[in-house]
Amino acid sequence: MHTSSSIIGPESPIRRVVISSHILKSFQVIEEERLAVLGGDIKDEETLVNEVKEIKGIYSAGTFRIDFREWYEAVQSFKIRGLKYIGILHSHSYGRPIPSPLDTLRMSECPGEVWIIVSPKGIRAWTYDLQLREIDLVIV
Ligand SMILES: [Zn+2]
Repeated sequence: MHTSSSIIGPESPIRRVVISSHILKSFQVIEEERLAVLGGDIKDEETLVNEVKEIKGIYSAGTFRIDFREWYEAVQSFKIRGLKYIGILHSHSYGRPIPSPLDTLRMSECPGEVWIIVSPKGIRAWTYDLQLREIDLVIV
């Protein structure tokens, strides 16, 4: 049981996300921005990604947006099979795997989600609880 009183927010702050290399491999050819919903399991500080469901998203005024209907359907398909919703994996065609200001805004609206960002310059994982925070990404 988590007993720290110094942290206000999620009971067990996420420290680590584990994902398989073959899931990531399919996202490493980046010609366009891609988006997927992550399903898996959460155990204390560790999150395990078991499944990735790509969704199309919507491009609008040069900005990549989540189609929330698709997102919802993906989350429901996880729940039916006993998987938890973990968060989002998306790609940046250019630049670094760091949340954009818009990414950060969305993350702040959904505290505790894991956001994995794939770019030609690497792969990193993030969450937002009290603030934007990088978490360990373990590729197995
Ligand atoms: Zn982004």
